[in-house]
Amino acid sequence: MATVFEMIINGDIPSVKLYEDDECIVILDINPVSKGHALVISRRCYPTFTDVPMETLSHMMEIARKVDSRQREVLGAEGTNIMINNSPASGQEVPHLHIHVIPRFPGDGKTPAFPKEKYSDGEIGEYGEKLRI
Ligand code: AMP
Repeated sequence: MATVFEMIINGDIPSVKLYEDDECIVILDINPVSKGHALVISRRCYPTFTDVPMETLSHMMEIARKVDSRQREVLGAEGTNIMINNSPASGQEVPHLHIHVIPRFPGDGKTPAFPKEKYSDGEIGEYGEKLRI
């Protein structure tokens, strides 16, 4: 079944589009974390960050940086969260690769985004051993 983003790309449902090229489109998120929250969406449907070719991802990051600049210029954002939810366990709702670009303002009350955990004694080293690439 087509994802909601495929339907948007195919013109089957409306969106507010900020940019498009051969690799990706940028739209406004319909339920923004803050107004102006944008999504850089790959034209081809790669379900996750793990699936997308590096060249496409790299291009999408370049476009995300342009969106960041525009949000700073036009909205006066003093920061942005650039975020990819990668697979359902991370909170990804739409299985079609997209980068969130969320405008942020001092004192906007939207942090901390994640509650933090604590390592027990020695545990951080064990994680380091297991995860070293
Ligand atoms: P994620 O949880 O990372 O998969 O994010 C999916 C995002 O898509 C959410 O922030 C939704 O608010 C957004 N979204 C879902 N449907 C639409 C739509 N029709 N137009 C714009 N944004 C949408």
